[in-house]
Amino acid sequence: MKLILASNNAHKLREFREILTPLGIEIIPQSEAGCHFEVDETGTTFEENAYLKAAAVTKATGLPAVADDSGLEVDALGGAPGIYSARYTGNHEDTDTDRLNLVLKNLGSTEHRTARFVSCISCTFPNGDRIDTRGTCEGTIQYGPTGENGFGYDPIFRPDGYDCSMAELAPEQKNAISHRGHSLNKFYEELREYLNAHK
Ligand code: IMP
Repeated sequence: MKLILASNNAHKLREFREILTPLGIEIIPQSEAGCHFEVDETGTTFEENAYLKAAAVTKATGLPAVADDSGLEVDALGGAPGIYSARYTGNHEDTDTDRLNLVLKNLGSTEHRTARFVSCISCTFPNGDRIDTRGTCEGTIQYGPTGENGFGYDPIFRPDGYDCSMAELAPEQKNAISHRGHSLNKFYEELREYLNAHK
């Protein structure tokens, strides 16, 4: 089965493919399907934003599409950056390093450093059907960045049960414990049931 990924994020594309390709699902980036737009994330939750992104691609192409909306919730920051994770500094030109440095600055030296990554996946079909799943990964925010793998806030996020950051894990280790790994595996199970029921 082919699914269009409603994203232009190369890291997400790689993680979707690593997990779904072995399951027989071919992931095609939205640009290859002729969708050269970015959807305004006007929702107030990860779930709403994932749905908005997938639905826009299904509307434009007439094909099933899947999107992930994800981010980092830091408890001592009242859940920030949350749905604003990709634009936390308020400046689109800023880098992942700028954004993780702002989290570190805002947290200061507090010892209350619990946090989680959240991933919500929405898959939309041309007939209006949809599948939504959610995955989380609990951890803490380090006092400084370590590691070169992954992307985004990975260098400052230490998953529970590990003594290194997410950016120090190999891709397959990250996929086994990550928010996106969990939401994608749940999505695969639900998609399989949906396809069986609609043969
Ligand atoms: P989205 O593209 O609107 O879903 O934004 C997601 C943002 O959340 C990314 O730009 C990253 O800053 C952050 N994020 C999401 N998933 C991860 C991850 O697996 N590792 C690190 N940061 C992530």
